[in-house]
Amino acid sequence: MRIVRFTQGEEPSYGVLTGDLDEYGQPADDAVIVGLAGDPLYVGIKLLEKEYRLDEVRLLAPVLPRSKVVGIGKNYAAHAAEMGGPVPEEPLMFLKPNTSVVGPGDAIQYPRQSSNVHYEGELAVVIGRICRDVPAEQATDVIHGYTIANDVTARDLQKSDGQFTRAKGFDSFCPLGPWIETDLDPNDFTAGRRVQTFLNGEVVQDGTTADMVFDIPALIAHVSSVMTLLPGDVILTGTPEGVGPLEVGDEVEVSIEGLGTLINKVEARS
Ligand code: ZN
Repeated sequence: MRIVRFTQGEEPSYGVLTGDLDEYGQPADDAVIVGLAGDPLYVGIKLLEKEYRLDEVRLLAPVLPRSKVVGIGKNYAAHAAEMGGPVPEEPLMFLKPNTSVVGPGDAIQYPRQSSNVHYEGELAVVIGRICRDVPAEQATDVIHGYTIANDVTARDLQKSDGQFTRAKGFDSFCPLGPWIETDLDPNDFTAGRRVQTFLNGEVVQDGTTADMVFDIPALIAHVSSVMTLLPGDVILTGTPEGVGPLEVGDEVEVSIEGLGTLINKVEARS
């Protein structure tokens, strides 16, 4: 099931997006959204007798993380190598504030403080229930679903600050979407789903989730051994190799097999 969050100009609503995706990860023209009564994270799936066409709504980030976005650094060996380091012995955690989240089609705002802002296409895991100290073998129980993220990073500030808060924390540095897919499980990603990033239509990242150093259950076990996870919290699972700079005016697409395509443009922060 694909859960969308959308607006028609007023309060956000939730719905289920029907139909298949085409080869570009886009919904078919006749796809409709069946309305839901409330946020399924909290009230479950309660279908309404209300339908919307995709062109009648604007999709929003499918989840607003209640407390945090947890990022994982260097979780693909080839990316660790391009960053000039080995693979960490334990998952390397950092936080992005929930205020960094924007939705599909929203602008990534290029901040004045940086001159080297990078895209990082990533699989995102949405947590479905309050949990801590989750054993890896029970990780599936706490997952609400999966979506796509762009872990936008001011690479120059990451280096000069010696830590990640500012570099990864700017408003708009965490596009999420376009929806949450609830019907997959961690094995689908361990087996391998293609992760691609396109910059102005050119492929710049082309990896597979099979290459993650720490798989999704291991990440949930690790993160939840440190901090309680709340429904709607998001874990970013790391980026494949091929990160590179964005410029104002660029269009960046992150596509994950079976999950769709997340598209954002880059604008100067006003
Ligand atoms: Zn990342």
